[in-house]
Amino acid sequence: MPIHLSSGGRIVVIVNGVFLALIGLAIFLYHRHKHNKSSQATVDTIVKREVRKERLKSDIILTAIEDGVIVVDNNGTIQLFNPGAARITGWSAEEAIGLDYAAVLRLVDDKNGAINKEVNPLSRIFHEGKPIHDNSASLVAKAGDRFPISLSVSPLIDSGNKVSAAVGIFRDISTERAEEQRRAEFISTASHEMRTPVAAIEGYLALALNDRVSHIDSKAREYLDKAHASTQHLGKLFQDLLTSARAEDGRLSNHPVAVEMSAFLEQLIDGLRFTAEKKGLHLEFLIGSNTATVDATDASKAVVKPLYYVHVDPDRMREVVVNLFDNAVKYTESGKVSIGLTGDSEVVQLRITDTGTGIPTEDISHLFQKFYRVDSSATRTIGGTGLGLFIARKIIELYHGKIWVESQLQKGSTFFINLPRLSTQKATQLQSQEAKDTSPLI
Ligand code: ATP
Ligand code: MG
Repeated sequence: MPIHLSSGGRIVVIVNGVFLALIGLAIFLYHRHKHNKSSQATVDTIVKREVRKERLKSDIILTAIEDGVIVVDNNGTIQLFNPGAARITGWSAEEAIGLDYAAVLRLVDDKNGAINKEVNPLSRIFHEGKPIHDNSASLVAKAGDRFPISLSVSPLIDSGNKVSAAVGIFRDISTERAEEQRRAEFISTASHEMRTPVAAIEGYLALALNDRVSHIDSKAREYLDKAHASTQHLGKLFQDLLTSARAEDGRLSNHPVAVEMSAFLEQLIDGLRFTAEKKGLHLEFLIGSNTATVDATDASKAVVKPLYYVHVDPDRMREVVVNLFDNAVKYTESGKVSIGLTGDSEVVQLRITDTGTGIPTEDISHLFQKFYRVDSSATRTIGGTGLGLFIARKIIELYHGKIWVESQLQKGSTFFINLPRLSTQKATQLQSQEAKDTSPLI
């Protein structure tokens, strides 16, 4: 390094100082760069190791899961297929990945009809965006064997809030189904057998209570009245058990026809009025908007009504309305029960409203389960088995409808039923077909 002595030693010292500082800086920058490079490499290795570890963990989990796991992208192509899925379907992961999911996960309904993509949960999830659970479909495996499955599909949401993939988890439920079937068969046989002697007892008690047939004193009448009421209750219980067992194993007798709901309800309500009035409750029937009231006690107030056609078995529908109406009367001390009917082009909606005890919020989600009863001081003393709403739900589901309740404690409850609406044209077409089918052969 040239050091020139010029005007004085001070300049030499300054130049030297600057020079040394530059060297120092260069050495510092060099080391920092080297250090940065090596620390970047270390970070990369750690990240890679972590990714590998996570992948290994998820591979182990996916392999260990007995259930089938399938991941489908938004083109319907299979991206992941775990060993469980391979075991259940008979397709290996190598064969399945890259194929359209519908070719591998072949779903059919209870009549063996293929479930098309519009209703398949693995396609629906892309526009519904919410988890879907389905226990009604069966799977046709690669070898052609068919068995019921339980399928849950969840969406994978990307940063743009769109569903980018669907994760399906499924398992074979044939064993549970066979078990359910055996249980339902036992209940159905037992209740069927028990109904006969109960009907006989009820008949004899009715004879004993009939003045024209037997003479009994007032004390005996009081006892026999109680025995008669209990026997009737027992008969209803066996009937409900039989109906619910049949609803569960799909053997509920069902002959749907085109039914015009306002005429059907008007006729039905005529028979129900007595029960409500016996308890001092007012019964009203509202058709269309709430202003178009048809008082159940005065047919002359009838207004021009729209036609609300649905495709149901009238006997089954009667069972549902009577169940809801009985509840409304049973759980209402005073006030009124209203039956309402409205609809739009797609749906016919039936409402049964009461001014009774109401239902606690925490019970609402369990209400339509078998044997569920609200345990409150207001309802504990009222008789019942908790089968009415379960049967009603099963019947409404049979017709692809929906049943739910909105309620406020001490104010009352409204039970809603939505059923798919039949256009008048379709209903007329069905009615003429029904007439042809039932007309005697010449
Ligand atoms: P049953 O099998 O004889 O009908 P249940 O009336 O007890 O017996 P569900 O009709 O299934 O059975 O009703 C289940 C429970 O829901 C009832 O026990 C009652 O606690 C509650 N519930 C139903 N309807 C009403 C209502 N309109 N108001 C208040 N609580 C109701
Ligand atoms: Mg009931």
